Amino acid sequence: MPEGILERLARGPVLGDGGYVYILRQRGLPMAGYSPQDVLTHADAVQQLQQAFFDAGAEVLQAQTFQGTRNRLEEVGQGDQFETIHRKAMEIARDISRGRALIAGTVGSALGSRYRMGDRDRVRPWYEEECALLKDLGADFLILETFYFLEDALAALEAAKPTGLVTMVTMSCKPVLTSREGFQMDYCAKILKDEGTDIVGLNCMQDPALMLPLMERIRKAVDGPIAAQPVAVECHPYATHMGEREGPWTDHVLSPQDMADFARRALEIGIDYIGSCCGSGPEHVRAMAEAMGRTSR
Ligand SMILES: [Zn+2]
Repeated sequence: MPEGILERLARGPVLGDGGYVYILRQRGLPMAGYSPQDVLTHADAVQQLQQAFFDAGAEVLQAQTFQGTRNRLEEVGQGDQFETIHRKAMEIARDISRGRALIAGTVGSALGSRYRMGDRDRVRPWYEEECALLKDLGADFLILETFYFLEDALAALEAAKPTGLVTMVTMSCKPVLTSREGFQMDYCAKILKDEGTDIVGLNCMQDPALMLPLMERIRKAVDGPIAAQPVAVECHPYATHMGEREGPWTDHVLSPQDMADFARRALEIGIDYIGSCCGSGPEHVRAMAEAMGRTSR
């Protein structure tokens, strides 16, 4: 049996991959939505980017299923492609990995910032369906990510449990550095951990300078593996690059050296899963790999 993510983490820090959507847009893919339908319409571009992340040293490849819950796909007229999209995304990752990197099935928030308190029962079936499919398609573990509401993250976690797969749950915060309910990120991490997630942390919306202090607090609040996947774009907590309409390409992209500094600092803090999100390309991941003492493939 190949080594799972928890066994791998037990041996030391793991390097994740980068951000896909914004890099693909920078490379000229259509701007319409942030849908995983890219894996069907632009399979070569997704494949090339994922291959580049692997070559840079990523030990985990995130299957491009983010925002792939059925309701999200229906919103972009792709509801009938639900299974096909997930199958293709997993196939692309598996063809690159060939057992040399772990494949994470990625589940993003079904409603994002449109989530409202009490939507838990509404979103859970969408998460259950997606998690079950990713398990069937052979995901090594699940990354449940980019939740603004703790309640939303808890719904996804609950939905993932029947799969028996290891889960990593990461919250996001914007425009202020709390959940939309007003909870601090270390509190969210503690609750998610108590409710049974294996790996907990933060992704997207903050650059390393903003995310690392939050991660320090999370490190103090929970035992076991923690994860950080910041954006590689300079941002400000109260005028974030990820405003409702603006994208990070309008702002200052951090250098590979900046992300190498992030990786070094993350190691010092005791972050176990060190990845990156929007704006982070293969050159950033390569710099992080080197900072972590890895040689690129
Ligand atoms: Zn992101």
